[in-house]
Amino acid sequence: MNVNAGGRTGELVNAARRFAADHVVGAAAEWERERRMPVELFKTAAEAGLLGLMVPQEAGGHGLGLKQTAAVDEVLAGADMALAFAFKVHGNLAGNLARNGSPAQIERYLKAMLAGEVIGAFLLTEPRGGSDATAITTRARPDGDGWVLDGEKAWVSNGAVAGVMLVFAQTDPDRGWRGIAGFLVDADQPGVIRQPAYHVLSGHALGTCGVTFDGVKLDRGALLLEPEAAFKGAMRGTDIARIGVGAMAAGMMAASLDAALAHTRDRAAFGQTVADFQGVQWQLADAATDLEATRLLTGHAADLFDAGENATVAAAHAKKFGSRAAVRTIAQLMQVMGAVGFRHDAGHPLARHLASAKMAEWLDGANEIQNLVIARSLLRD
Ligand SMILES: Cc1cc2nc3c(=O)[nH]c(=O)nc-3n(C[C@H](O)[C@H](O)[C@H](O)COP(=O)(O)OP(=O)(O)OC[C@H]3O[C@@H](n4cnc5c(N)ncnc54)[C@H](O)[C@@H]3O)c2cc1C
Repeated sequence: MNVNAGGRTGELVNAARRFAADHVVGAAAEWERERRMPVELFKTAAEAGLLGLMVPQEAGGHGLGLKQTAAVDEVLAGADMALAFAFKVHGNLAGNLARNGSPAQIERYLKAMLAGEVIGAFLLTEPRGGSDATAITTRARPDGDGWVLDGEKAWVSNGAVAGVMLVFAQTDPDRGWRGIAGFLVDADQPGVIRQPAYHVLSGHALGTCGVTFDGVKLDRGALLLEPEAAFKGAMRGTDIARIGVGAMAAGMMAASLDAALAHTRDRAAFGQTVADFQGVQWQLADAATDLEATRLLTGHAADLFDAGENATVAAAHAKKFGSRAAVRTIAQLMQVMGAVGFRHDAGHPLARHLASAKMAEWLDGANEIQNLVIARSLLRD
């Protein structure tokens, strides 16, 4: 990814760098200690022009392509992946709304989302399983002019603070994935029960939790994605998110490599710097190769997507390789830092990034599901 790109992208990348330096780098370790989601930063990010990147300009967004957006994702995740992903989930819903929403839905939510006043969430996964998304059991039953929603969702990013939720629910179990529709649900509606945020290894800035729907009445205007279109729409959103995860993996590797280079050049052992040992240099070089490969795979997938071509397999490669490489590489860079690499409170992000890299191995489909996508394409051709 060219994070030094000129023009509009360059401006936004610079804005992302300033935002990260001023609001994230020095604070993220504290969010983890406090297990806190910095919800106030959505408005700050909106003011910095970092929300609604892919929302068309005529709808109030920036109208960027995915390649340009990924350059911003890389910078933000270099500071904190959980916050970068929180913005991604929010931005994806804003984009979805701008593309598919009725005038009334756009009027009701989009402006407030772009201002960071209302936060969005995407609810597909359920407690009984996330990989087989066609098997969801949250049910939307026809009721007069609208529906009644019952069920439970798990792993809702932004769930702790979301004001509007895109909930995927089965309208007709006999139709399988074709019966799944997507509904916009206000979080303060009666029957929407937000569970406490999960305690996880790291990434509390993502505010992940479960949400229960108990007899929630939805009117006709709540339907954003019709049955049949909904599942395809969810998969398109997944391609965007997977490419974003690839870019975020690159951002975490780049920041970790910078920290390891600075530390090993400064640290002395056996009469020389740690960076003078060839064994350490090879580990730094391997990290640089993983970073380069992740950027190339991610950039290629984003190019395909922006050209209107099918990017599903390329997105699976980028997400799988990037997240696996990040787990391996950041652990290796932690090793060359010595024991100080293991600390949260030593002014570097490696421990937080290592935990977020692990999180990335499940985000938008476990890496085994990426293999399923890739293997299907191999056997089909
Ligand atoms: C931090 C975080 C945030 C998330 N945010 C969201 C969100 O905002 N919205 C949302 O809808 N979901 C979200 N998810 C859920 C995520 O998409 C799921 O975790 C993922 O799809 C895997 O589902 P599961 O965890 O239920 O694993 P399961 O489906 O229970 O699978 C368990 C394991 O089995 C293996 N496996 C499963 N199927 C296969 C197969 N066919 N072949 C080989 N191996 C297989 C994989 O190793 C997998 O990890 C989030 C997850 C995390 C960790």
